Amino acid sequence: MNGIASAYQSLKDVFGFEGFRGRQEDVLTRVLAGDSTLAVMPTGAGKSLTYQLPAVMLAGTCVVISPLIALMHDQLRSARANGIRAATLTSADADWRETQDAFRAGELDLLYVAPERASQPAFRDFLSAAPLCLFAIDEAHCVSEWGHDFRPDYRMLRGLMDAFPQVPRLALTATADRQTRADVMAQLRIPEDGLVLAGFDRPNIHYAIRHRDNPVRQLTNLMAGESGPGIVYAQTRRKVEDLAEKLAAATGRPVRPYHAGLDPATRAANQAAFVASEDMVIVATVAFGMGIDKPDVRFVAHVGVPKSIEAYYQETGRAGRDGDPSQAVMFWGAGDFATARQRLAEVEEPRRNAERARLDALAGLVETAECRRAVLLRHFGEEPPGHCGNCDNCLEPAGVTDATELARKLLSAVYRTGQSFGMGHLQKVLTGSEDERVRQRGHDRLSVFGIVEPDEARLLQPLSRALQARGDLVATEHGGLALGGSARAILKGESAVQIVVPPRRQRTRRGDATP
Ligand code: ADP
Ligand code: ZN
Repeated sequence: MNGIASAYQSLKDVFGFEGFRGRQEDVLTRVLAGDSTLAVMPTGAGKSLTYQLPAVMLAGTCVVISPLIALMHDQLRSARANGIRAATLTSADADWRETQDAFRAGELDLLYVAPERASQPAFRDFLSAAPLCLFAIDEAHCVSEWGHDFRPDYRMLRGLMDAFPQVPRLALTATADRQTRADVMAQLRIPEDGLVLAGFDRPNIHYAIRHRDNPVRQLTNLMAGESGPGIVYAQTRRKVEDLAEKLAAATGRPVRPYHAGLDPATRAANQAAFVASEDMVIVATVAFGMGIDKPDVRFVAHVGVPKSIEAYYQETGRAGRDGDPSQAVMFWGAGDFATARQRLAEVEEPRRNAERARLDALAGLVETAECRRAVLLRHFGEEPPGHCGNCDNCLEPAGVTDATELARKLLSAVYRTGQSFGMGHLQKVLTGSEDERVRQRGHDRLSVFGIVEPDEARLLQPLSRALQARGDLVATEHGGLALGGSARAILKGESAVQIVVPPRRQRTRRGDATP
């Protein structure tokens, strides 16, 4: 008896589980039929089971390639606890002989090995000594140079697996954008229909992305509406310290900083206090959060943009692990993108291309008038409904305006003033302001002087933000703006510009815009 019916039986017998979760069953159906597969599922979705179960059911050993020794030993313990015959071959193991003998005798269901060992020719010879049922490649995004964590040893795995063409491959990862996915599938020769991807939605998280005007006030408002624990991500140590101090003063709540510059004892104490607390807010750099198990985080706020959509998903995903309603709020500014795009210049190809694509995708999420969840899930390859009812854009629909003409005016002003002035000056020129500096520079004699009507002028700031997010306007070293990206196509009338006009927010009793 093979296939999915006996898989149900083994699921019960070996793991004691009643049923499959998410798309585990789809993965298993493929694997049990001998079809190579890429499973993309978030952390905690139960990826291990999709190779451990076939390892038990099928004749031959399942070879698991995993990058972290600590992770392998965790897996080993839990597999053995379920009565699975498992072993690891790592530099930290003393029982190599026993493991090798057990493998040769066909007495191992699972053999965990690190990629640097697996890619060696000697290992290939060793594996030929006994039948194999499956190659499971954990953290498979490491195969791809597009991935955020490329590891050359993973590239070498292809040679190993090609030596066993009859053994199916199961690649597993929690993060893989479209390009990384395609690359992993090509590298590991997984057929196009071999992608199983799902489970990224976190329905209890409310997503909101807002322009940052006064972060202390915006966060204070957020905290006024949310008394539970929260994480505020800021981009530098200095900003972490500064925000922590100001938020504590403004809210009277327990607020603590966390960043790599704090001494280890303070850092550990702050983390422990946060984990134990029911109302603490921790202001942190992205160093914070990995491996922290706190299910009742009620909000995650970003002051500044995260590195990528993947990073955003991972960081906001620390909210609401208990399933209760939680918020993810990002406060972004055009400068965040300007800085990130400047940094791109220092990156070498082909990484630069990949990072630019990541930044563009993030700008797309930030700048969209569509459902945030839909954009997010589509980025991960899911096909969500277009409306979630639990994000800012679903609940307070933003308007979209064609700003192509205004963009051409702004970009020509940038060009005609020599690509070295900031928005403040450009606005004065465009609106025809009687300004001393404008006159001194002779900018009142330019053809762009005063060509923007007062009622259009209010769109200049959101337009400039949108253009900076997309890279069509780039910041210069001295804080001025220069043409970039598709600016020339826009000027020539070959490219249109749509911008999102946020809804007018209600004034609250505190006399502030809601966060
Ligand atoms: P991932 O590798 O995707 O991060 P794990 O394989 O570590 O996730 O699984 C996360 C948890 O879910 C584990 O405790 C595992 O035992 C549990 N789990 C997996 N599949 C099932 C299932 N079908 N029913 C109940 N629990 C499951
Ligand atoms: Zn939505």
